[in-house]
Amino acid sequence: MRVRFTVSGVVQGVGFRPFVYALARELGLSGQVCNDASGVIVEVEGSPAAVLAFGARVGTDAPPLAVVEAVERAELPARGGTAFVIQDSIAGAGRTLVSPDVATCTDCWAEFGDPADRRYRHPFITCTNCGPRFTIITGLPYDRPATTMAGFPLCPDCAAEYADPGDRRFHAQPIACPSCGPRLTFTQAGAPPLSGEDGLAAAHQLLMSGAILAVKGIGGFHLVCDASDPDAVATLRKRKDRGGKPFAVMAADLATARCIAQISAAEEALLTGYQRPIVLLRRTACTAVSLLVAPGNPDLGVMLPYTPLHRLLFDQPGPTVLVMTSGNVSGEPIVVDDAEAFERLAALADGWLGHDRPIHVPCEDSVVRVADGAELPVRRSRGYAPYPINLATPVRPALAVGGDLKNTFCLGEGRYAWLSGHVGDMDDLATLDAFAKAEEHLEVLTGVRPELLVVDKHPSYRSRQWAQLHAAGRPVIGVQHHHAHLASVLAEHAYVGPPVIGFAFDGTGYGDDGAVWGGEVLLTSYESFERWTHLGYVPLPGGDAGVQNPCRMALAHLFAAGIPWGAGLPAVQACSEDERGLLNAQLVRNLACAPTSSMGRLFDAVSSLAGICHRAGYEAQAAIELEGAATGDGTPYHFEFEEPAELLHAVVRDVLAGVDVGVISLRFHLGVADLMVRTAERIRAERGISTVALSGGVFVNKLLLEASSRRLAAAGFVVLRHRRVPPTDAGLALGQLAVAARLPQRKEQGLCV
Ligand code: ZN
Ligand code: ZN
Ligand code: FE
Repeated sequence: MRVRFTVSGVVQGVGFRPFVYALARELGLSGQVCNDASGVIVEVEGSPAAVLAFGARVGTDAPPLAVVEAVERAELPARGGTAFVIQDSIAGAGRTLVSPDVATCTDCWAEFGDPADRRYRHPFITCTNCGPRFTIITGLPYDRPATTMAGFPLCPDCAAEYADPGDRRFHAQPIACPSCGPRLTFTQAGAPPLSGEDGLAAAHQLLMSGAILAVKGIGGFHLVCDASDPDAVATLRKRKDRGGKPFAVMAADLATARCIAQISAAEEALLTGYQRPIVLLRRTACTAVSLLVAPGNPDLGVMLPYTPLHRLLFDQPGPTVLVMTSGNVSGEPIVVDDAEAFERLAALADGWLGHDRPIHVPCEDSVVRVADGAELPVRRSRGYAPYPINLATPVRPALAVGGDLKNTFCLGEGRYAWLSGHVGDMDDLATLDAFAKAEEHLEVLTGVRPELLVVDKHPSYRSRQWAQLHAAGRPVIGVQHHHAHLASVLAEHAYVGPPVIGFAFDGTGYGDDGAVWGGEVLLTSYESFERWTHLGYVPLPGGDAGVQNPCRMALAHLFAAGIPWGAGLPAVQACSEDERGLLNAQLVRNLACAPTSSMGRLFDAVSSLAGICHRAGYEAQAAIELEGAATGDGTPYHFEFEEPAELLHAVVRDVLAGVDVGVISLRFHLGVADLMVRTAERIRAERGISTVALSGGVFVNKLLLEASSRRLAAAGFVVLRHRRVPPTDAGLALGQLAVAARLPQRKEQGLCV
């Protein structure tokens, strides 16, 4: 019996052909395997039982980095023969799905730690199952000359492994060894550069002394210091102009991570998985992490070493936890190039540990949280991008440019959507430049040639201006911000069906009526939405000033609710008399006040009213600290979307009665969750809809996400929440794409911006 299996998905550059080779040999089958534009094509011949066994295992036993989407089979006439061969790839236009950069695998770690192995302590050890991919690929087809390893010809030993189908390094493009691979270099101002182990020792010495080291990672430079040293952390904070924003840390190993944070089974799986993201964990009181690392924050972002070089930083007595933050000047993109690092990080770092393997495109660390035992992406980059998201229905070749904060963009064609890694805030030229480069790279890797551009409707978003500038005659379609949020959660679930009840809660999004939306209940499909209700409008005083000063937002909410600014309220005390005077004049005369239905601003207001955070040093600080403060027991506050005043009265009553702030926070979170359930029940009664979608940055809040999902599920709703893309504006582009590019025959007239 002879059968042809066509395997599609992420099956190239992940060791799929050697796996097929080994499986066929194990089952005593003859035949051949090759890559082509559609994936991997295998023909096997042998006893029907063996062929069947092959068909069953080719999908289920695939190598760790492979994502098998479909296995098609077709019976062929038998041909005889005894050998099984790996054939050269069939060239041609088509879609090869590129793997993300992934952490060093167990086999490589074993060799790395084995003094008898020729790659013992080799800082660039990789194999078919691990190492950099996305950030080193310069073009397709994925072969060594089209990677940044092109300048490192394989030595005879490496070449033999590369050519041996039985070897773990068969056709692994980035492999190298100490004799043919890249080299480490440590540089310090005014001293000659040191390479290899000498360089490592010097870098280590620098860390021990409390200095700041720039370290070249997979997708860019990190700034690194001893997390237990408050002076070092304070210096880094000051040099990076970081305010109170938390730093992430890297722990030497899982045991160390357990000392500094509480880790559930699901969190451990994420920490140790091949993506190795930063996982937000509840911190302990361990002194290996100075309080200055994440001041005022009950959580800590923790990751484990994901490159050999990281492990080398920990292998001598010294710090067991290191602060690891993106190597960039505040607001600028991460630095990837060695020469650029010396220049741009000159005022930030005391020494540089780099190497001569170029990074072709930047890729930041990913950040995740666990809610109800499931992954909740906060930033989807290294380890995840550019795995595509599978869509329920095909889309036209299109580019969605996302929003201006935490920008990511999305290319789509057919059933695939490729969401980019983190680009950044589009408020400076360097970030716009990084956007353009990343977009070009992803077009090369995916082969998508967009016929259509999709943007947010905000008239002054730079992402939108970029699209208009680069449209070159292609239609540019605007999608409302919260519609895009909800479509993104529908898209990642490959949802098909009637409109859903969508709760889109975030800080800011341009509304169709020109107001600042953000507490929206939308009956949503991909095509359109109906604004069922929204948080009652309150004045947002002074735009950004209102966002950065939660105490002003608290006073604006009190004003809107008709509650006097009593001297007993912490939010009132936080404002100077002048500030209150100015604010009052602004509100009374409605000057520079935009109406807003923002849920994010309501969280800010309650945080300040409860006395938790009055001034935000970084985005969402007030809401993050409010969530962190929640404790104890309490009945939910009761209010309706249209009447936030009822909530304000209840909070003020509790504050003045001296109720514990943790309880106030809890009552508020549960109150929002209950409000969602009541509202969903009303809509179900009226419209018969029983599926709920949750999106928007507010749903990074684990307490709210868990409380609302559980209560909605208990009330019989199917709840769609984010598991693969962030609920924040970092997921917006996927939703934009799903709305605007979904129907090939879509009439664009009237939609263009
Ligand atoms: Zn490996
Ligand atoms: Zn070699
Ligand atoms: Fe948003």
